[in-house]
Amino acid sequence: MEQGQTATMLHKPDDVPVKDVVRIASYHRRDFDLAVVRTNPSDHDQIRSSLLSPNHATTSTLGQLDILPTELAHEICLYLDIRSLFRFRQVNRRAQQIVSSIRLYRAVINHALEAFCIILRTNIAPWFTLSDLFKVLCTKYCQFCGDFGGFIFLPSFARCCFTCIREENLPRVLPLSVLKQRLKPRSGRLLGFIPTVRTLPGIYSMDETPRKRRTKVVLRDSVNTLYLSDYSENTRVKRSQSTSLLPYMVTTSLPYFDPKSGAVQRGISCSGCQVALEKDLYTSGVKPAACALRDKVYSHDDFRNHFQNCHEARKLWELSGQGTSIINVPEFVRRRGYFKKRDVMMSFHSQ
Ligand SMILES: [Zn+2]
Ligand SMILES: [Zn+2]
Repeated sequence: MEQGQTATMLHKPDDVPVKDVVRIASYHRRDFDLAVVRTNPSDHDQIRSSLLSPNHATTSTLGQLDILPTELAHEICLYLDIRSLFRFRQVNRRAQQIVSSIRLYRAVINHALEAFCIILRTNIAPWFTLSDLFKVLCTKYCQFCGDFGGFIFLPSFARCCFTCIREENLPRVLPLSVLKQRLKPRSGRLLGFIPTVRTLPGIYSMDETPRKRRTKVVLRDSVNTLYLSDYSENTRVKRSQSTSLLPYMVTTSLPYFDPKSGAVQRGISCSGCQVALEKDLYTSGVKPAACALRDKVYSHDDFRNHFQNCHEARKLWELSGQGTSIINVPEFVRRRGYFKKRDVMMSFHSQ
């Protein structure tokens, strides 16, 4: 069938249900999630239920704190930093009851448990509250470019997208050891006041570079220039492979949670754009914007708008019989992205 004939058969995009279009013509880029800080998701399923302990009757008390109404106890908890809140919860079953019944806490544990655990493990937890995390969880778009953002930049708890991580569009970060060298004498006490991320061993970036050592990382601009002895463009740290990996080592995936509808989105990419890219490869050569379009991540609503203008995505929809049958999709889509090391991909696909 000629391409023009196919186009005339396509249904009006406005008629199609978003949910079905998302199911047929989009996929989640798993390789992006695996390029940043991550833990094994199967570990979390086991602890989620214990972190959301039900309200069993308990004889435990919190001493004088028990005279406070529950609402006030919740309010106080929201002022605690995440590490203190976690420690308070471990005091006894009464404390578990109080923390587990906080609406924000339940939303975070239900929808952002991996990020929550990573925040604790990277030691950034003392610098931010549960309210801070909930606010980022309910933020849909990247703070730096305005596209859908499926990640959190840990040093400042900012919503960000993978493009901004990859293209170094995030605020610059440095190893703490580098910042120490630049501080003026007797300014060392400042270090205790700087939010610091302690990186985790793992495999980072799209090149899948392993990093075994843990490094303390801070925002380059976290110290006022008055306290730096040699702050100038000329003395800034030269970019190297290790510093170019840092943005990946201080970000982790974080879904978007809509508190009104309760819906959760992790971001989707267009299967049709991958089909178009592969067709270009075999015919005229890849167009400059094709890779960027293939790598673009959308919210569900934004994807619907894209779908209206993406010929290949609409063709997939037609091939599926308007969502009624399974279709063949490119290998890249089936794998949910690009993986250099097959064993890494397989270990996560089997989870
Ligand atoms: Zn961005
Ligand atoms: Zn597309």
